[in-house]
Amino acid sequence: MGYFKDIFNGGLSLIEGMGVTARRLFRPLVTVQYPRKKIPLSSAYRGHIELKIFGESGTHKCIVCLNCEKTCPSGVIRVQGEKLKEKGPKTLTSYVIDFSRCSLCGLCVEICPTSTLKYSREYELVGETWADCKIDLLARLARQVEEMEAEKKTQGIAA
Ligand code: SF4
Ligand code: SF4
Repeated sequence: MGYFKDIFNGGLSLIEGMGVTARRLFRPLVTVQYPRKKIPLSSAYRGHIELKIFGESGTHKCIVCLNCEKTCPSGVIRVQGEKLKEKGPKTLTSYVIDFSRCSLCGLCVEICPTSTLKYSREYELVGETWADCKIDLLARLARQVEEMEAEKKTQGIAA
């Protein structure tokens, strides 16, 4: 009985698959002339994690609690900080992820007590070595802040 049931289910899934192909055949083709043209990213898109920039301080809110590093199931996060003041949290001095082994599970984003991690919208990363997959989030944040300031200046000149 199980034998015939398998044949029936296999035939049904084949027909369903052919149905999808047949429907696709009569839809207009969508060709995007990438990289000259790009389609909008889904709001659910997850690039590698990055540090958020908060408007009030103009920087991140990492307190070097190491929750993300300890929680990461792939062990790809390395956070370092140092105490600049006797009291208060440490100051972040280095935040590196090895994106080649990140599964984008999101646990680091969820566990962060200051909500200072988010997914980037990056999808054009390229590298030739494993080392290229190691992303220094602090350096990335510094570049983003510089770009934002340059943009503000340009807008100020244009206004
Ligand atoms: S998304 Fe998951 S695997 Fe990737 S760095 Fe965060 S905790 Fe690690
Ligand atoms: S969990 Fe958040 S605050 Fe803690 S080290 Fe990671 S990024 Fe920093």
